[in-house]
Amino acid sequence: MGRLQGKTVFITGASSGIGEASARQFAKEGCNLVLTARRLEKLEQLKADISKSHLNIFIHAVKLDVRDKKQIDTVVTELPAQVKDVDVLVNNAGMVIGTDPLIDVKEAVVDQMLATNIKGLVFLTQAIVPRMKERETGHVINIGSIAGKQAYAGGSIYCATKFAVDAITKALAIELVDTPIRVSQICPGMVNTEFSTVRFQGDKEKADNVYKGLQPLVADDIAELIVFTAGRPAHVNIADMLVFPVNQA
Ligand code: NDP
Repeated sequence: MGRLQGKTVFITGASSGIGEASARQFAKEGCNLVLTARRLEKLEQLKADISKSHLNIFIHAVKLDVRDKKQIDTVVTELPAQVKDVDVLVNNAGMVIGTDPLIDVKEAVVDQMLATNIKGLVFLTQAIVPRMKERETGHVINIGSIAGKQAYAGGSIYCATKFAVDAITKALAIELVDTPIRVSQICPGMVNTEFSTVRFQGDKEKADNVYKGLQPLVADDIAELIVFTAGRPAHVNIADMLVFPVNQA
């Protein structure tokens, strides 16, 4: 039996990309799942699909917009008994809008990115970690980015949110250092998901151009590392991992 067998994993942004791929890979390890995102129909499809080949795990699919603290608290409070005690929280939901230089970025765009990428992660962590502390077990895995390590033109706000994820991850790890709770960050380079389509608000051609001249990572590449990180022995914490496609530097 693997170390993750029977553990409960709560994933934000499970309706596509890295979150969806992680859900499928945690299911293979025998984990019970809480699948969250705004697009409930996608979560329901994913649940049905995973359930076909993994009969013995419990999957709870629930709509959650991480920008809404009340929704976060309600979803966590109302978790079914089978997944009430979360062992692994994967703070994966995240997004970017546009590539405008800082002086042109609209207030609404700033608000969206801050609310999703920072506040969502903070409030969900606040909702779940206290129970982990009571149970003296747990693992928070934050999905950061290379954009949280180096800034680029047109990415000021997105980079700021991912630098914030980096800071929050490190501060939380220090705050929990005298507990058995682990805190990790995984920072991908370019991954071919819906991420770029969201960035260019549905413009597929612009999204595809992002990956020209380079073979991007795929969601499963990152999902494997998330599962690997969660599956280390209890005394081992992978604090921070930076992962690139081979031709990205
Ligand atoms: P996707 O666009 O495929 O997935 C993003 C997920 O976040 C979706 O499931 C989406 O679900 C969810 N999400 C977005 N906004 C909200 C919200 N307000 N509330 C709840 N869920 C939300 O992109 P990726 O899989 O690539 O992105 C996953 C993470 O990886 C993000 O944090 C991103 O910043 C990070 N990352 C991605 C890279 C890449 O190149 N793709 C590189 C580095 C980091 P829904 O729309 O249904 O709510």
